[in-house]
Amino acid sequence: MFYTETKGELARTMPESKCCKLSEFSAIARSLGRLEMPVFEIRTENAASARKIMSFVNVIFGFKPRMRLIHGKGGRSRNQHIIQLLLGKKTLETLKGLGVMSESGSGISMENGIPWHLLSRQCCRRAYLRGVFLGRGYVQNPEKEYHMEFMTDSSEHAKGIVQLAESFNVTPKVAPRKKGYMVYVKGGDDVAQLLRVMGAHSAVLTLESVRVLRGVRGDVNRVVNCETANVTKAVNAGLSQIDAIQRIERIIGLKSLAPGLQEIAELRLANPEMTLRELGQLLSPPISKSAVNHRMRRLIHIANSLNGKMG
Ligand SMILES: [Zn+2]
Repeated sequence: MFYTETKGELARTMPESKCCKLSEFSAIARSLGRLEMPVFEIRTENAASARKIMSFVNVIFGFKPRMRLIHGKGGRSRNQHIIQLLLGKKTLETLKGLGVMSESGSGISMENGIPWHLLSRQCCRRAYLRGVFLGRGYVQNPEKEYHMEFMTDSSEHAKGIVQLAESFNVTPKVAPRKKGYMVYVKGGDDVAQLLRVMGAHSAVLTLESVRVLRGVRGDVNRVVNCETANVTKAVNAGLSQIDAIQRIERIIGLKSLAPGLQEIAELRLANPEMTLRELGQLLSPPISKSAVNHRMRRLIHIANSLNGKMG
């Protein structure tokens, strides 16, 4: 599945620089984290994502977090990996510094906007988008539709994601959803560009090859459908003409026809596959397609009038 493969590829892509690790962790924690005082919890169904988060925590906070695994009870429910950080003073300060949480008079809450102070470098903006995608992103199978989305619970965060994408020449749209906002792009170019930005290089290759196939298939289908329709029409018309001419021949003989009609009837029997235009060209002097058509209609009329006579 394209989505699962893309997510797996991005989860296994480990940024080298510390700056990017901070940015990507910030995005993941902002997207998936929640406060269960006195614990900050990050939940993900994806095992590779869970390993990545564990590694980020280790680098950034300097300790190994607790991870719990809740097994899905079959059917559609999947395993949940729950990574828990006890909100000590130091941990809270770090999370605030990373733009994941904020503290005000009313207490601690999730941050609304984007931590621009972390994102002055391009490498970090890429990492942040990757984090948002790993957190709550989705990409449709390109064989069905070109569609990529990032979900977020705040309109300010949604606007920030748009701005980030714009710094890579993609302008997503935002649509309100039941729970939050969907930042999305449609179109092969935009989806490919965002995959490239996030570092999903195999996914880009898959998408590009699907695009080529889709393009070729589309062209071939258009040509084949068009030609098939025309050929079928011509063949059906030709068959009913031949049918009529053969009946005339059987009942009264082609020689009883007017010379112009006899000529075209004989030509049609000799060249069943030809178009009316081509038949017209065989006469001397040549006659137009519509003139041939006129004679064919007269032949069919004559044949129909013979219906009662020994059909
Ligand atoms: Zn960076």
